[in-house]
Amino acid sequence: MFSRFLGNSHVVTALQSMLAEQRLPQTLLFAGPAGVGKATLARLLAAALNCKPGPAEACGKCTHCRRILAADPSLPYYQKLFEERAGLTLEKRRENPLVVSTHPEFLCFPPDGPLPQISIEQVRRLKNYAQFGPSEGRRRVFLVDQADRIDTAAANSLLKTLEEPPPYLTLVITSENAYDLLPTIRSRCVPFFFGPLSASEMEQFLASRAEIGADDRRRLAAWAQGSPGRALAIDIEVYERRREAMLALLRAGARASDFGDVIRHTEVIGRNKHEKLELQLDVLYGLLQDLLRLEAEPGAGSAGEKRQVINEDIRDQLASLAAKVDFQWLERAVSKVDELDSHARRNIQKQIALEAFAVSLR
Ligand SMILES: [Zn+2]
Repeated sequence: MFSRFLGNSHVVTALQSMLAEQRLPQTLLFAGPAGVGKATLARLLAAALNCKPGPAEACGKCTHCRRILAADPSLPYYQKLFEERAGLTLEKRRENPLVVSTHPEFLCFPPDGPLPQISIEQVRRLKNYAQFGPSEGRRRVFLVDQADRIDTAAANSLLKTLEEPPPYLTLVITSENAYDLLPTIRSRCVPFFFGPLSASEMEQFLASRAEIGADDRRRLAAWAQGSPGRALAIDIEVYERRREAMLALLRAGARASDFGDVIRHTEVIGRNKHEKLELQLDVLYGLLQDLLRLEAEPGAGSAGEKRQVINEDIRDQLASLAAKVDFQWLERAVSKVDELDSHARRNIQKQIALEAFAVSLR
């Protein structure tokens, strides 16, 4: 099964040789961009450690492998569960802390709630489970997924288990950025750094999805920036609508259009409760990155090699916007998005925040 994992072969090879030599660390940190397979690899690791023929490989066929690999939070069943839980009261979530498990040896603790966080109740549950050794398989593996979303109290509660994990337990922690974790957590784990997939790996991944047409495949490969998970999560129509809105903000900010155009979009965003600000900001970052690249491109229209952009399908629109702004403007825009991003996990008013962003750039 390890050979089917696309990308980050340096991590896969290292883990496999550690498994073969039985010197896998007990506390591991998987750090890298969202959607490149950190949690998937943690599941594969848990499967291998419990696989009947294992432990250097997960056969994918035995009962341990099949059940462990089924604990995939990206599956529609779990997505629906998470959505339902986001609507529960805090008390209800506390009473029944979230844990995803389809096999007693593999437990996954993902962020929970409307502003997803890993709670102290989840960590308490983890510690309770950690008291017991394996019952069906050989080794217990607990995954704390997106641990940068753990609150301080929960993080402190987890420290003890990270310091002295029981001998039968392996703990895997994932985070987009290792430095978003408390230093006390980070320093207790052996880090493995993941990167985005290469263009050919992304091609290979998207080609394996028969349901995606060739034209969409090209667009998704560019938009997903080396992240298969991201590519699968993108709804082309929704992305285009979101991008249209963010482009309107930037155009108004650059005084390339009037402000009425912004309000037309932000009103719609403000009304849509499910439209998280983080998703808008993600698109905004992508657009700004493209504008920076186009800004740096020598003499527009010259014969020089074109720089790759994420939003290749609207390159002309971006190039004409890039011609209206300078580096200072782009720098300011990026720092304003950073500012918005740092507030995004709180419940801020999306419409007001986005309009204020556009105004601040004028
Ligand atoms: Zn197996």
